Amino acid sequence: MRFGRRKNNASRPWLLSAKLLIASSVVTVIGFSAICASVMLDMRRGEEELARQTLENLASGIEADISRNIELYDLSLRAVASNVVMPEIRDVSREVRHLILFDHAATAKYFGAIQVFDAEGRLTNDASTLDPVREDRSDEEYFRVHRDGPDVGLYISRPMLHRGAYSIVLSRRISGADRSFLGVVAGSIRFSYFHDLFGRLKLGPGDTITVLRTDRTIIMRTPFDLDVIGKNLAERPNWNPANLQNTGSYSGAGPVDPIPRMYVRRSGSSPLFVVVGKPLDSIFGLWRTEATRIAGIMLALTVFVIAVTLFLAREITRRALAEDKLEELATTDALTGLKNRRKFDAEIDSEWRRATRQKMPLALLMIDADHFKSYNDSFGHQAGDEVLIGIAICISDSVRRAGDCAARYGGEEFAVLLPGVSPADALRIAETIRLKVQQWSGGPTPTTVSIGIASLTPSAALDRTILVEAADKALYAAKANGRNQSALASFPQLSLVA
Ligand code: GH3
Ligand code: MG
Ligand code: MG
Repeated sequence: MRFGRRKNNASRPWLLSAKLLIASSVVTVIGFSAICASVMLDMRRGEEELARQTLENLASGIEADISRNIELYDLSLRAVASNVVMPEIRDVSREVRHLILFDHAATAKYFGAIQVFDAEGRLTNDASTLDPVREDRSDEEYFRVHRDGPDVGLYISRPMLHRGAYSIVLSRRISGADRSFLGVVAGSIRFSYFHDLFGRLKLGPGDTITVLRTDRTIIMRTPFDLDVIGKNLAERPNWNPANLQNTGSYSGAGPVDPIPRMYVRRSGSSPLFVVVGKPLDSIFGLWRTEATRIAGIMLALTVFVIAVTLFLAREITRRALAEDKLEELATTDALTGLKNRRKFDAEIDSEWRRATRQKMPLALLMIDADHFKSYNDSFGHQAGDEVLIGIAICISDSVRRAGDCAARYGGEEFAVLLPGVSPADALRIAETIRLKVQQWSGGPTPTTVSIGIASLTPSAALDRTILVEAADKALYAAKANGRNQSALASFPQLSLVA
């Protein structure tokens, strides 16, 4: 069965609407997802920035407190180191010497007593007593460091057990006027200082504060872990020190444990620096929950929108197909499947106008079954119907161009509209149909058709009825001339050709 051009054209807007609907839904979903993703990323950046600022403030505060205390203690060490070499001090009594040396020494519950050792490491003066017991510190690292290096300045030892308490020892060299080594002045800061300092802070689970010497030896760390304290991070192969510069920050696994954190480092004037860390899980925990919730809602909305869109698109397509089917039914002859008379009238009308515009010929074949009444009378109406179907198939097989329109004109009469076909070509097509019908029906009483042909190039002055009338007249002429033949109308008068 063949469909005309206009049927396909008519269905396109529907298909286009379905595609447009899907496209606009997809664009909308992508657009909203992009906006959501952008907002969520902004929120994440905000959380990250807030955490960094908080850690920076924390690190700065801790570093400032440590620097201030070390500076204070160092002032006392400096005073002792310079006073102890004054020649006048040797001539005064023990009590006065003690007063001169340690009168201004800083005292606080975290500070250990300042001690003075001579060039052999023997304890000579002790701020805590007038009668120091014998002590030899010549094997201590801080003693050797000062003995071997005149320019060490303030030296901070590794954490050690000092006088029964974990402490770091702060020491300075005592040098003579000729820079000769005269001994060491040493004091200590107990770990309780750090415990109290960190204890005053409100830390979250997994937060870390690490105090390190400039050579990256861990002096103190919270959470407190004796296994880590005193270890040198410079020896850790899994950690690149360039990751975390002073005043910088770093997100990822640190050198001590694999928990990913944001780390911030602060150094000041003292030989110690501070690194504070917060687990990324706790920085982004709330954000992650929120992001998951919004992503879930977005996903559900996306699925909903896509499902509704697909449903509507299917509905549109279904309706389009139903309308196509309806249109087809409304324009098709039920028995033969050719176009019906109504469709033919519309077609000849528009093709006539088109041919007028394009100054192209328009041909019309009027086909009528010969002696069909007697065929019906002899073989019955049912058999007659089958013959009509056969004739329709013969016509369809012979007329295959897109613009051609084959229709059942009425009863046992058919019409074929052939746009752009000259009289000679129209005659050729008519003969093809006629011979095909004859060949197809065969038998002792073959069904034959007579065909009237008219072809002309329409002009604005002419009416389309002239074409139908001319083809009709040619058909009568063919009948009159003995049937089973084609007759070509010539304008203005008709003439028989075949
Ligand atoms: P002619 O060669 O002059 O055309 O003779 P004819 O008998 O074909 O012409 P006429 O117009 O006298 O008869 C047409 C017949 O076609 C009348 C009717 O029985 C038959 N006919 C019309 N429509 C149908 C149809 O739908 N089915 C069948 N079976 N017969 C039809
Ligand atoms: Mg007839
Ligand atoms: Mg007839």
